[in-house]
Amino acid sequence: MIPGARLVMLGRQGAGKGTQCVRLSRHYVVPHISTGDILRSAVREGTEFGTKAKEYMDAGELLPDDVVVGMVDERLSLDDTRARGFILDGFPRTVAQATALLEITQPRGLDLAVNLDVPREAVLSRLAARRVCRDCGANYSVDEPPKYNWTCDVCGGDVIQRADDTEDAIIRRLDLYERETSPLIAWFDERDLLVEVDGMGDPDTVTSRLVRVIDRQRERRR
Ligand code: AMP
Repeated sequence: MIPGARLVMLGRQGAGKGTQCVRLSRHYVVPHISTGDILRSAVREGTEFGTKAKEYMDAGELLPDDVVVGMVDERLSLDDTRARGFILDGFPRTVAQATALLEITQPRGLDLAVNLDVPREAVLSRLAARRVCRDCGANYSVDEPPKYNWTCDVCGGDVIQRADDTEDAIIRRLDLYERETSPLIAWFDERDLLVEVDGMGDPDTVTSRLVRVIDRQRERRR
């Protein structure tokens, strides 16, 4: 295996990006950088920034591009990402963010953007059943809860339903995805950076598919 990776994970909310990014981050030993997790942790800390961010998040709206780009720029300047790379989850979400990302990551740029493809109807039911750990972000569902009383198997935190996983907010976020984020698929494709991976099936099968296409692409770029 070639060490390190510089990846963007695209896909609808509920496509399994969070779960797969955690696995890929272990496999390639690179940090998993989720803008949603960074924002949720600011909300928990109760900072002024977190309070403002919460208003957008609860409404299922995107934060302004410059705010999120600044946050990612800061995170990508830390040593761990400079040395080995990163897996970005939930960023970029607009063409403006993608353009900024390519600038931030110069001169090495990205290895590729993966579109984890799960149809809208399938993610709607997954999202309604989704539960997450408040502390580490591990994903569960009502069908596959943690072992003990909604306590996270990984870190012992409380496992809850996200405030933005209500039916109204889910539909709003999916509509926003089609409008703002799905054009990124063509945008990365035009730059020869896109691969599509079928996100349906059990998580192990999806991980194997991802590793296969990522390794193939990284071989090509060596
Ligand atoms: P996620 O966990 O990725 O679904 O993100 C949860 C919420 O955080 C989103 O619905 C947005 O309100 C906000 N958010 C996360 N990433 C971004 C981003 N790249 N641009 C704007 N808002 C974001």
